[in-house]
Amino acid sequence: MTDRYQTFAASGPGRFVINKLGLPNPATLRRYQPGQPALDGPALVGAAPGGRLSAPAIEVLRAAEISVLDSAAAEERYGALVFDASGITSPDELGELREFFQPVIRSLGPCGRVLVLGSPPESGATAEESIAQRALEGFTRSVGKELRRGGTAQLVYVAPGAEGNMASTLRFLLSAKSAFVAGQVIRIGAGNAVEPSDWARPLGGKVAVVTGASQGIGAAMARVLGRDGAQVVALDIPAQGAGLVKVANEVGGSTLQLDITDPAAPARLREYLTERYGGVDILVHNAGITKDKTLAKMSADRWDAVLGVNLRSQLAINAELLTESVLRDNGRIIGVSSIAGIAGNFGQTNYGTSKAGVIGMVRTAAPVLAERGGTINAVAPGFIETRMTAKIPVLTREVGRRLSSLAQGGLPVDVAEAVAWYANPASAGVNGNIVRVCGQAFLGA
Ligand code: NAD
Repeated sequence: MTDRYQTFAASGPGRFVINKLGLPNPATLRRYQPGQPALDGPALVGAAPGGRLSAPAIEVLRAAEISVLDSAAAEERYGALVFDASGITSPDELGELREFFQPVIRSLGPCGRVLVLGSPPESGATAEESIAQRALEGFTRSVGKELRRGGTAQLVYVAPGAEGNMASTLRFLLSAKSAFVAGQVIRIGAGNAVEPSDWARPLGGKVAVVTGASQGIGAAMARVLGRDGAQVVALDIPAQGAGLVKVANEVGGSTLQLDITDPAAPARLREYLTERYGGVDILVHNAGITKDKTLAKMSADRWDAVLGVNLRSQLAINAELLTESVLRDNGRIIGVSSIAGIAGNFGQTNYGTSKAGVIGMVRTAAPVLAERGGTINAVAPGFIETRMTAKIPVLTREVGRRLSSLAQGGLPVDVAEAVAWYANPASAGVNGNIVRVCGQAFLGA
């Protein structure tokens, strides 16, 4: 679906009108192309005194062939500004943030990245330290709302001892792969992160199932996981057979026609995976439906259908694949929530319930997966340009697109890139996270 306003904004007359009227100005986002440099310019890295994260971060950046500067240079246009705030141990020291960013923030190039690194507030040695670390969230999210020209800001809390687990997350955030991820707080903890031998194909040798893979976001996930080297099982309902075959052929994967709400579905999926692949490494619960009505008009059928696809079937599949150990050790489960599951949405009590349930699923299963060396996380998409959002009435759709820091809808590939980051073997320390792919929508927490 084309965003006519964005096309207009990118034209000469459009730019003029938009600037004159102070209208939202959606930038053309830089998106990942194989072989492209991670950033469009060097990264300036700074640290508050006593920080423990800048040295390992610089190592990761250099390995990713990002040029690193440790002091501001006149006339420089930065690809990223990275600040290690882990050394901040009291609110009095929060001024370090302003001191680092204020002089250089205007020198951040288009689609530039602001990255703040900190320690999880609960790990603070004192209350003062915990408060100061928690305060980093407000700084980062506010900077994100001030950035223009497609820039994004994120905060990454790295648990003490998990300094070696940052590589996949920094490579994702400091690249075009995270184009529509903005204003997020990500936690990295313990876990046996294994760096892939080839960062261009980190999922080589892995088997990935994507539900709802025949179109939209699921098809993009199948393509991105396939691009990254995984053998993809594209799953969808039989009525979507033609689209499913097309996607599977594109990525050299296989198809499984299955209604995940069928009581026999978990066992069929298990049999398929064990017989054909001997197990599975990555399970992406993408299939989802909406059946909107206000609560006063919500029939039991609409309620049950949405809860059935978006939550209950996923729990049943997890139970089957975990109990039978079909999901291999170091496996990944990835859920698809929604900002409607965080902020709520008019006419979506059923959908919001199901998508908040996905967050519950992630939180409760994270320790279970961790015991097996695996992880479970979810993405929470905001406004993504798909058939689902094309159905939204035109005015609401237009508002939905503009109501974010990036003033546009995301693309299915943006959600897929976040899923591939979770799936990366180097993301073993990324467990129990809910990351919004929403361009920092002004809705919800
Ligand atoms: P879509 O309708 O294009 O695709 C969903 C797919 O799921 C379809 O191919 C459908 O056939 C499949 N599916 C539905 N019921 C199924 C069942 N019982 N068994 C197997 N497959 C089934 O939707 P989309 O926009 O690509 O959304 C994908 C996911 O992202 C959904 O979970 C959705 O809730 C979530 N999401 C989308 C947006 C957005 O802006 N599009 C925003 C937030 C969350």
